[in-house]
Amino acid sequence: MSHLLNQTSNQEIPQNKDHASAHEKSIGETKTAEPNRFSVTDESEDVQWKRLLRESIQTPEQLHDLFGENLDEMKVLEKEFNIRVNPYYASLIKEKNDAIYKQVIPDSMELIKGCCVDDPLSEERDSPVQSITHRYPDRVLFLVAHECAIYCRFCTRKRKVSDASKISLKYLKAGIDYIANHPEVRDIVISGGDPLTLADSRIEYILKSLREIPHVEIIRIGTKIPCVLPQRITKKLVNIIKKYHPVYVNTHFNHPSELTVEAKLACDRLADAGVPIGNQTVLLKGVNDSVEIMRDLMKGLLKMRVRPYYIYQADLVKGTEHFRTDVEKGLEIIRGLRGHISGLAVPHYVIDAPGGGGKIPLLPHYLQSIDEEKVVLRNFNGEVFVYDQPLDVNLMQIANQNNVMLKTVVDGAKTVVDGAKTVVDGAKTVVDGAKTVVDGAKTVVDGAKTVVDGAKTVVDGAKTVVDGAKTVVDGAKTVVDGAKTVVDGAKTVVDGAKTAVDGVKPNGYGG
Ligand code: SF4
Repeated sequence: MSHLLNQTSNQEIPQNKDHASAHEKSIGETKTAEPNRFSVTDESEDVQWKRLLRESIQTPEQLHDLFGENLDEMKVLEKEFNIRVNPYYASLIKEKNDAIYKQVIPDSMELIKGCCVDDPLSEERDSPVQSITHRYPDRVLFLVAHECAIYCRFCTRKRKVSDASKISLKYLKAGIDYIANHPEVRDIVISGGDPLTLADSRIEYILKSLREIPHVEIIRIGTKIPCVLPQRITKKLVNIIKKYHPVYVNTHFNHPSELTVEAKLACDRLADAGVPIGNQTVLLKGVNDSVEIMRDLMKGLLKMRVRPYYIYQADLVKGTEHFRTDVEKGLEIIRGLRGHISGLAVPHYVIDAPGGGGKIPLLPHYLQSIDEEKVVLRNFNGEVFVYDQPLDVNLMQIANQNNVMLKTVVDGAKTVVDGAKTVVDGAKTVVDGAKTVVDGAKTVVDGAKTVVDGAKTVVDGAKTVVDGAKTVVDGAKTVVDGAKTVVDGAKTVVDGAKTAVDGVKPNGYGG
């Protein structure tokens, strides 16, 4: 932190020597917390957090010496709200006017007179006894401590916080009695100031007293301690808290730079003791008014087992005009979270309505239109979807019965049609069968005819052969007769010759 040393001064920001450079690694980059980070050998856990608180920056002079702030201005601003920055939280400041600095170092803009007021949520109006605000039937806000481990310049309750005359231990008993006498109250939010700045014995007295009231079901502790002085979450304190379950812790981280190894160890201790931890973030201009910062914060919290619960639009608190963003910025941040990171890490964006109207959640325009029949929605990518509204169940029942009847009639008609179709198909089959028989008979007749024709052809052939043979025989006979005639002719010739010869032959020796 020596880079923050005012050049005109020799004073340095009080150092938490145990913290040393641990904060330089955010929890998003750190795999494991060092187990002995909370304590040093020469100092018990209990001594350590008290020392850190005692060594806080608390005066205009220190702010002047450490950061070069204007002394006169700081003196004026101190009157608006006390100053406290403990050494652990101061060690998270990396440079002047960064997100950590702005949350705790006074700014002249606190003097701007805007529309803001001392008690924007009208808590005093609903305060039946000094330490109690009772607005909702079943739950109360119980203010038990005036101190905090830092004093946030944007604090909603700065009209009371750090003022021992307004939140005092002497009002504790009255608060507990009020709760005991109101059986409708089942949920207590213990706040202040920061309740965990009280001594362990005082915290145990409060928890024990509340737990002994039969109708008290839930105890919630509203505390910024895990973020701003995590060393306060000692083993001893955790052992006290876990005796009075169900006890919830609502804590308050505003920036990823606050997610340190120490903060993780504090949250681990609470979570390991069975304490569910929720986080409330205040949307602050110049601190966390960007989607990227909020994404890193919400994702980092979830890794520390802290459930992001609310992002608050800054209340209309006097002296905090410069911290306020417009509401569109909050909606832009929710649009940048919803659908882009796990739903578990997306908190509700709410305005705590001025004048005590309670927390009112705000959503970007996911709902485009709605009527009796359908809801038109836009998702995180800008795509439009339609969701059908539920129908009147009585009408649905009648419609269902009519549907059943209609279905029966339709099914009956269908059966009749199917039957007729079957009959037609049967007749068709019979006709086809008859046709087949006729075709078969025709084929038989044609076959017989072919056989007869064949036989006739054979007979004609045979006859032709016989006639042929007869012709051959007759031919042969003719040939034989011819030959006989030739022979007879030859014989005649021979006889003629013979006769001739006999005619010329001398009697005895003619010649
Ligand atoms: S810790 Fe809470 S109560 Fe205390 S100053 Fe900060 S916001 Fe106010």
